[in-house]
Amino acid sequence: MTNTVPTLTLNDGHTIPQLGFGVFKVEPTETTRIVTDALSVGYRHIDTAAIYGNEQGVGDALAASGIDRSELFVTTKLWNDRQGTQSAFDAFDESLEKLGLDYVDLYLIHWPAPANDRYIESWKALEQIHDSGRARSIGVSNFLVPHLSRLLAETDVVPVVNQIELHPAHQQPEVTEYARRHGIAIEAWGPLGQGKYPLFDETVVAVAAEAHGKSPAQVIIRWHLQMGNIVFPKSNNRSRMAENFDVLDFELSKSEVAAISALERVGRVSAHPNEVN
Ligand code: NAD
Repeated sequence: MTNTVPTLTLNDGHTIPQLGFGVFKVEPTETTRIVTDALSVGYRHIDTAAIYGNEQGVGDALAASGIDRSELFVTTKLWNDRQGTQSAFDAFDESLEKLGLDYVDLYLIHWPAPANDRYIESWKALEQIHDSGRARSIGVSNFLVPHLSRLLAETDVVPVVNQIELHPAHQQPEVTEYARRHGIAIEAWGPLGQGKYPLFDETVVAVAAEAHGKSPAQVIIRWHLQMGNIVFPKSNNRSRMAENFDVLDFELSKSEVAAISALERVGRVSAHPNEVN
């Protein structure tokens, strides 16, 4: 087994590191330090969003790192109030400028915001951004089956990913199966349950952790990787960043994976996609 982060090939041929680092709720003033720490640990895939208010700090850390752009994978997202055509173009330009980049690897519609009914129009704007080469890949986030099926019926480009709340206690089988059937990879946000549900205390997680000499968080991240999910756990703390990255030297058995999958029980711990507009 190698200790290199595995990559997945997306439906447009680009590759994505399966393990990255997310910066939701990372304070703008702390972002450069935190992303610099994450890069020093070995993360090369960073997941941010315009609404997080920290793209500038991410960009500063990337620039200061001296890491070749080709080794980095950077995602950002279009916020709900910028959905539309010209507003999406403008929002994208602002994100790129804050990140100090001339392209992002992945640009996402952050939420479908169905009450506003602009996600089809916004996706057509993302298709144009994609054509310009300034977003290598485009995808969606928080889309449920009705949103995805409408998108596929009414537009040309199939999203490369759908980034959704997903952890062992909330696995979203319906949207996950639909996405995989259409070649859409799953990015799992809140992969550790955002600390809102005591996943680490579940017996099957604790037993697997003990068996492999790993922590419960490492077992859950490993479960995601073996399930084929793309994950970017977040921590402000360098030793936890390192812990979350140190998941490439062990493998859960089939029965351990199945036991963790059987934890499906609580439903989402965060907002319902139809309610974020
Ligand atoms: P997460 O599941 O990664 O949980 C983060 C929490 O877990 C933090 O409180 C942290 O202190 C704790 N934690 C991290 N590592 C730990 C460890 N080893 N041991 C114990 N506790 C640990 O939740 P998240 O940050 O919400 O999700 C990850 C990323 O997903 C975000 O940073 C963001 O990039 C993305 N995200 C996207 C959306 C969306 O709508 N698209 C929503 C939320 C998050």
